[in-house]
Amino acid sequence: MTKHDNGRACMGRQRLQDIRYHRQVNYHPTDIRQETPGELTVLWDDGHESRYPFPFLRFSCPCASCNELRRQQVAVTVTPEGGTPTQLVGVGNYAVQFTWQDGHDSGIYAWDFLRELCRCAECVSAGH
Ligand SMILES: [Zn+2]
Ligand SMILES: [Zn+2]
Repeated sequence: MTKHDNGRACMGRQRLQDIRYHRQVNYHPTDIRQETPGELTVLWDDGHESRYPFPFLRFSCPCASCNELRRQQVAVTVTPEGGTPTQLVGVGNYAVQFTWQDGHDSGIYAWDFLRELCRCAECVSAGH
C-alpha cells in the first residue's frame, strides 16, 4: 500500500487558491439579507450584526473614481432611487459588488471594508 501525504496535497491546493484570491480578510459574513426596505443587513461570523442604508453604501463606494471625487472633496449626491441596488454579486471569497440603479457598478466592497462602514453604537464607540 502506498502512503499518500494527503495533508500536503491539500495545502498545495489551498496555496493556489490564496494566490487567486490574494486578500486577507478578518471578517466574513454568515448572512446578507434585506430585512428592512432600503437597508442591507449583514450578519458576521463573530456574531455582529450590521445594518447599512443603501444610499449610504452607494455614497461610500470604494472604487477609484468615487475615491477621486472624495479626494477632491466633491460631494457625491445619492438619491434614494439611484442608491438602490439592482444586483448584488459575490467577488471571490472576500467581497461583494453592487450594481446601483444609477448605473454605477465599479465598487468592490471587501468584507473588512464593509465591516468598517458599520455605524452601530458599538462600532462607533470602538472608534471606526
Ligand atoms: Zn464608485
Ligand atoms: Zn457594528
